[in-house]
Amino acid sequence: MYQDGNALAGPLTEIFAVDMTSAESVCAGCGRAGAVASLRVYWHAGDAVVRCPGCEQVVFRLVRLENRLCLEVTGLRRLTFS
Ligand SMILES: [Zn+2]
Repeated sequence: MYQDGNALAGPLTEIFAVDMTSAESVCAGCGRAGAVASLRVYWHAGDAVVRCPGCEQVVFRLVRLENRLCLEVTGLRRLTFS
């Protein structure tokens, strides 16, 4: 069960001042390009694991560590804002 990337609109505003869901992401695994809103979001205990709909690789993770928010982007090749 997953939600689309629009579920990240609230949490990502804590890190980025712009709406991240409309930014274009490029998957490091398969090279798929698409809006962050098109990614698949799997929630685990309040943390978001965001996967590519093309290859299912983890593109990035949003993890809460006590009162901090950590963005891990190991599966993200590029993020483009317009
Ligand atoms: Zn991919």
